[in-house]
Amino acid sequence: MTTIDLRMRNRIAHVLLLWFRANARDLPWRRNRTPYTAWLAEIILQQTRVDQGVPYFERFLEAFPNVQALAAASEDQVLKCWEGLGYYSRARNLHGAANYIVKHRDGQFPRTASEWMKLPGIGRYTAGAIASMAFGERTPVLDGNVIRVLARVFDIPDCTDDSKAREELWRIAESLVPKNEPGAFNEAIMELGALVCLPRGPSCCECPLRRMCRAYAEGRPESRPVRRVARPVPHREAVAAVIRRRGRVLIAKRPSKGLLGGLWEFPGGEMLPDELHADALYRLLLDQLGVAVATGRALVHTDHAYSHFRVTLHGYACRILRGSPGIIFYSEYKWVEPAELSAYAFPKVQHPLLEAVAARGQT
Ligand code: SF4
Repeated sequence: MTTIDLRMRNRIAHVLLLWFRANARDLPWRRNRTPYTAWLAEIILQQTRVDQGVPYFERFLEAFPNVQALAAASEDQVLKCWEGLGYYSRARNLHGAANYIVKHRDGQFPRTASEWMKLPGIGRYTAGAIASMAFGERTPVLDGNVIRVLARVFDIPDCTDDSKAREELWRIAESLVPKNEPGAFNEAIMELGALVCLPRGPSCCECPLRRMCRAYAEGRPESRPVRRVARPVPHREAVAAVIRRRGRVLIAKRPSKGLLGGLWEFPGGEMLPDELHADALYRLLLDQLGVAVATGRALVHTDHAYSHFRVTLHGYACRILRGSPGIIFYSEYKWVEPAELSAYAFPKVQHPLLEAVAARGQT
């Protein structure tokens, strides 16, 4: 167990807060922090880089300036605003939590990390970040940046992906959070990980923790944190059908739970190993919509990377041979004018197909 005496704790808090005041980035959620903006920023920043998250934060705040506006929006409106950011369960949970706060808490936000954790989509890290930054609760955060900084400062040799080491890191983080300015301290340590204590090539010479950093003293910052060896990212193949009828195209809404839940798409799905594109389209459209289709010309072949797999999508113009669309896999379907497609939230992997439909007009 890592021991940290009071003097060291005070010293770490002191130098980190000083450094943060001089070096904090000017980010939109830091300008006028409210519980709503703190919550919104933390949800957007889960799985998203800061530079990617900034325009989404601004767009979201403009569309839904407060929790009441967010609760009053439809799920389609929320997903459209989130389109392209990925991990759509975050948007659905944000919307669900806004409804809960408005209906059951009279629009009042929780104030403590343990209360925040009762809301959908809020884990220990997010709860700690919001409660400390928006309400001044003395509670820790532990994200990838904090793990890296702590594993280096305390030269932790254990694999930080293991639950025992993770608990130890939470304990260290908790012991370091000062009574005064806990939120600023949490932001400071995350900011240090983002700007100075980088995964590769940390700028130790500019680091305010250099004198206290055990990995630096041992000359091995980059050997910390110890991580599990990453498994190779699997590759999948998928197909999608653009079906037209009297100038309209068929789109379908994915079930609200699961990957890309609640998003609209040109119907299709994952291919079986060694399956031909036309066979996959025939099988998937029959299983998922109840229509037999013939495959026409290819519209796009496009690659997309998710965090846990990569996918190549093959989009084709198709026509219905038999049957009418029904609700089997999808929660809804619609025939829409191509010009109306921009009103629907589509997964990023299908954006080249949307562009192909828009460019060709007739498919
Ligand atoms: S001295 Fe280097 S390794 Fe240690 S916390 Fe600072 S940047 Fe990270």
